Amino acid sequence: MKLLKRVSEVKAWRQLSNSLGFVPTMGALHDGHLSLVEKSKSQNEQTLASIFVNPTQFNDPKDLQNYPRDIEADCALLNKAGVDAVFLPEADEIYQDKYRYRISESEFSKILCGAFRPGHFDGVLTVVMKLLNIVQPHRCYMGEKDYQQLQLVKDMAATFFMSTDIVPCPTLREPDGLAMSSRNRLLSADQRERAPRLYQALRRSDPIPTVVQDLETFGFKVEYLEEHFGRRFVAAKLGHVRLIDNVEI
Ligand code: AMP
Repeated sequence: MKLLKRVSEVKAWRQLSNSLGFVPTMGALHDGHLSLVEKSKSQNEQTLASIFVNPTQFNDPKDLQNYPRDIEADCALLNKAGVDAVFLPEADEIYQDKYRYRISESEFSKILCGAFRPGHFDGVLTVVMKLLNIVQPHRCYMGEKDYQQLQLVKDMAATFFMSTDIVPCPTLREPDGLAMSSRNRLLSADQRERAPRLYQALRRSDPIPTVVQDLETFGFKVEYLEEHFGRRFVAAKLGHVRLIDNVEI
């Protein structure tokens, strides 16, 4: 597996590929990320993954500081999964403009997570645009776990006539239903035990205020529980750890 740190290195490596799948991540990898890698490997001759904790998508500096990082373990997992190359850029190289230029969307990015994390999706869309321009993959694999993000990236790619196909991938869950997430490793043992209630809440047919109240009783601080486009979406905090999930209704 090739380790690529500079934009110029990715561009040079990329020239050799006629069929390239791309899996962008923020690291602290789990089986959900690896399912994206697997799908990419089944549909492309080469797969490149990136690990970049994108500072511009964090509206809370403490959240950025506490975000789990484990580059060595991540590279070992990607290598074992058969990834051809991994891109590990520094923030200074990605943001040479100091974030003077950015992509923003004015409707769908303002609801759900966008309403609670000002500027979050500007950061997401900007970094994905930059990464897609650097890597120029044929296909880019993204999880339905972050459904709003997936739809916004799909819409951005269509809006700007980009040639990468954005491929949605189903949410991988722990045996108790909790959606796999890098943030799960920040949960205490007690919080981890309560966390699957979030997924259970998405599947209950009781009125939404009742479900919210029950979650609050179990110590969740609910940001939203809403239905849009035939899906139910939830975001809630357990202590300082913010968890999101969604299901088709
Ligand atoms: P992240 O490292 O959290 O930015 O996630 C990188 C990619 O992995 C995104 O496209 C996520 O939607 C996807 N992903 C994260 N968790 C899961 C999961 N449990 N199942 C499937 N995909 C996931």
